[in-house]
Amino acid sequence: MTHDTNCIFCKIINGEIPSAKVYEDEAVYAFLDISQVTKGHTLIVPKTHVKNIYETKEEVASTLFARVPKVARAIEKAFNPAGMNVLSNTGEFAGQSVFHLHIHLIPRYDESDGYNAKWVTHNDDYTNEERQAIAEAISVNI
Ligand code: AMP
Ligand code: ZN
Repeated sequence: MTHDTNCIFCKIINGEIPSAKVYEDEAVYAFLDISQVTKGHTLIVPKTHVKNIYETKEEVASTLFARVPKVARAIEKAFNPAGMNVLSNTGEFAGQSVFHLHIHLIPRYDESDGYNAKWVTHNDDYTNEERQAIAEAISVNI
């Protein structure tokens, strides 16, 4: 497993920093976010140190995401939330503060539960041609 000696999540995985562990196996570690947005807010991370989604190889991603549903279901079973937001902030501008890939599982209880990520859609701003051009600009890079 690659790990970064200065990384707080690598230290949590290695037991150098305490955490409220939810789940662990050979590939992933899941623990409560120290700043609970809502009750049961959990982070799931690969044991391999990767900075964020951009730097993640398919094998690491598939192993990590394969574990997400069972941790999500366990939170659902424990607290019966009304819903759940599953997300990964990528890059400082998008709110990433720890640079070891992590998936946030944020159970949702009601409108005033502390989670807030309302977005404004711009559906009318693009013609079909523009949509095709945007899709193409992405797709040529895959
Ligand atoms: P992000 O801001 O998306 O990079 O998420 C990083 C998350 O890690 C934040 O929500 C922090 O509250 C959380 N965090 C930082 N340090 C710890 C820690 N020692 N134990 C648990 N969670 C932590
Ligand atoms: Zn790390």
